[in-house]
Amino acid sequence: MIIIKKINELRNELTIRRKAGKRIGLVPTMGYFHEGHLSLMDYARERSDVVVVSLFVNPAQFGPDEDLECYPRDFRQDEQMANERGVDIIFYPDKDEIYPDSFFTYVITEELSKVLCGTSRPIHFRGVTTIVAKLFNIVQPDIAVFGRKDAQQAIIIKKMVADLNFPVEIIVAPIIRESDGLAMSSRNIYLNPEERKQAPIIYQALQKAVEMVQRGELDAGSVEYTIRQQIETVPLARIEYIKIVRERDLSPVKAIEPGTFVAVAVFFGKTRLIDNVVLK
Ligand code: AMP
Repeated sequence: MIIIKKINELRNELTIRRKAGKRIGLVPTMGYFHEGHLSLMDYARERSDVVVVSLFVNPAQFGPDEDLECYPRDFRQDEQMANERGVDIIFYPDKDEIYPDSFFTYVITEELSKVLCGTSRPIHFRGVTTIVAKLFNIVQPDIAVFGRKDAQQAIIIKKMVADLNFPVEIIVAPIIRESDGLAMSSRNIYLNPEERKQAPIIYQALQKAVEMVQRGELDAGSVEYTIRQQIETVPLARIEYIKIVRERDLSPVKAIEPGTFVAVAVFFGKTRLIDNVVLK
C-alpha cells in the first residue's frame, strides 16, 4: 500500500495503472476507521483492481459551531487497518492541497441538500458534494463506494453524478452496526458510558417501525409517533428529527409506499447520531 499526499503524484500513479487496463475503485472517507469503513473497502476490492481510499477531514462540510477541530484522527491506525484490508493507495492530502487560498467554486445539489440533515447543517452537503466532485476529478474512478449509514449523502451524490454526468458508478453499501444495533460511526467515540448505553434505542425504535409496517401499518404519522415515543423512553436522547421520506427525492410521505425510508437524527449530549432504515 502506498500513501500519496499530492494530487499530481496520485494522477501519475493512476494513469499508469489505468493504461494497464486496471479498474479503479474509490472510497472517500474522513478516517478514524471502523468496520463500516472497512466494509466499503471490501466492496471496492471485489469490484475493482486498484482500491484508492481518500482520507481527508473536509473542513467545507463542517459548520462554524461543529466538531472540525476535535474530529477524531489516528492516521497510523487507519494506515494499518487499510493495509490489512488490501487497499492499494491512501490519498491523504493536506488542506492546502485541496483548498488553496483562492478556492471559490462549490457544487450544490439544490433541494435535496436543504432537507433532513440540511435543515440544521445548511452548508454541510455543499461541502460534501464539492469534495466528492473534486475527488472524482482527481481520481477518475470507475466505481465509488459510499455507506447507506449516510443515506441522504448517498442519494445526493447519486443525483450529482446523474445531473453532472460524472462517468462513475456509485455503489451504496449497507450499514454496519455494533452488536447492540448502534450504527458504527467515528463520532461514537464522543459518547460517555451512559450515553453509549442508551444510544442503541435509536435502532430499536427503527426496528419497531419496520415491524409495524410489516404488520400492515401504513400511516406515516403513526409510525413516526411510535419511533418518537420509543426513543423518548431514554432520558439522554434529544430528537432533532424523525422523517419518513421517499428515496427518490427525500419528500415526506403521508402513507408508506414502496421506496420509503425513515431517517433520524438524535443528540446524546453534544453528540449527534444519525441512522435510517428502509420501511418498504
Ligand atoms: P466518514 O469517514 O464518516 O465520512 O464515512 C466515510 C464513508 O463510510 C461514508 O460513505 C459513510 O456513509 C460510510 N460509513 C460510515 N459509517 C458507516 C457504517 N456504520 N456502515 C456503513 N458505511 C458507513
